[in-house]
Amino acid sequence: MATQEQVGEPGPEVGEARANGTSGPAGLELRRLTKQFADVVAVDDVSLNIDSGSYVVLLGPSGCGKTTILRMVGGHEHPTSGDILLDGESLVGIPPAKRPTTTVFQHFALFPHKTVLGNVDFGLRMQGMSKQEREKRAMDMVDLVGLSEMRFRRPSELSGGQQQRVALARVLVTNPKVLLLDEPFGDLDRLLQLRMRVELRELQRELGIAFVHVTHNQEEALSMADRIVVMEGGQIQQVGSPAEISQRPANVFVAAFMGDNNILRGSVAEVNRDQAVVDANVGHLAIPTGEHSHSVGDKLTVAVRANCVNLAAGEQAARPNEVVATVAATEYLGDTIKVHMRAGEHNLLAKLPEQRYTEMSKLVGKPVVASWDAMNVQLLRD
Ligand code: ATP
Repeated sequence: MATQEQVGEPGPEVGEARANGTSGPAGLELRRLTKQFADVVAVDDVSLNIDSGSYVVLLGPSGCGKTTILRMVGGHEHPTSGDILLDGESLVGIPPAKRPTTTVFQHFALFPHKTVLGNVDFGLRMQGMSKQEREKRAMDMVDLVGLSEMRFRRPSELSGGQQQRVALARVLVTNPKVLLLDEPFGDLDRLLQLRMRVELRELQRELGIAFVHVTHNQEEALSMADRIVVMEGGQIQQVGSPAEISQRPANVFVAAFMGDNNILRGSVAEVNRDQAVVDANVGHLAIPTGEHSHSVGDKLTVAVRANCVNLAAGEQAARPNEVVATVAATEYLGDTIKVHMRAGEHNLLAKLPEQRYTEMSKLVGKPVVASWDAMNVQLLRD
């Protein structure tokens, strides 16, 4: 089975997901890629195109197969079947050091006894480049990552963020066409991670090569990617821009994994000209029919994003997309608050501006009417 899915617009071909928005052979292409370890299918018939100048994030929970994809692209793992093409040429069978790809690992793996320049120079020395050319290239790259003042320091004399930059300079100096990043912020504290996100994006734009970044962190993916590839069970669940993935999750897995979604289930009770009324577990929903055709009795699952839920004190739901719920708890998050509610046996979540914290905290234990616009009800596949 081909495993990719794409929300919103149909893919360019059946069986192919695109993480680029362009067509043609330029860039990286995974073609029906599978990796099996004994009885575990780590990567299951994945097809994906990554444009040469794009920042793509493979996102998913632990064990979903994202690192195995990265390792196959880097040449550290051999595919069980399928192909990996760069600019139309297969990489399969080419050893890692001979591929125009390079990997930054979570633990930067710097040489402790070498200076910044020595670490950066190492990859070039392995390529047999002349000393003069090597020195110039290494120095240019150390400059690019802002470490020229520290070029004679050893890794132990650098902060975590500076070590991260040396690790980047060391792999980028070899002029890769694709940079592979495996959980690159794993060891950095949060503030540094936030800064490195911006630096890495700037670096990618400046170099204009593809960065393929693996993470299980939704916020990191949303803040950095041109395209996010959401994976689960070795398969692609959705490919899209950060806005598409968060506003239009394709299925229940993506909606649940991205978080801050109310996932509601029900069956169609009535179909009007442009709306279907759904008898759902929390009350009645009205959803736009759009391009979908619904029939009475159809079972549906939908998502309503927590930040699309309005709340008002009250005890009566007057129309579809209004639900009476009891406020269970409020959570202060800085610029927003979360309001956790119970509607019968079901949980509901609203995300509101911080200014409503006092008002909402006073409503804990009391009934409220949660409501949303029909246009914010997103139909999900199971
Ligand atoms: P994490 O975020 O925890 O690194 P991941 O999404 O990157 O997870 P992979 O490391 O690609 O997941 O692993 C996918 C599946 O393949 C897992 O079930 C894992 O146990 C299995 N797997 C990975 N490498 C091997 C291996 N060398 N031998 C056997 N099984 C493996």
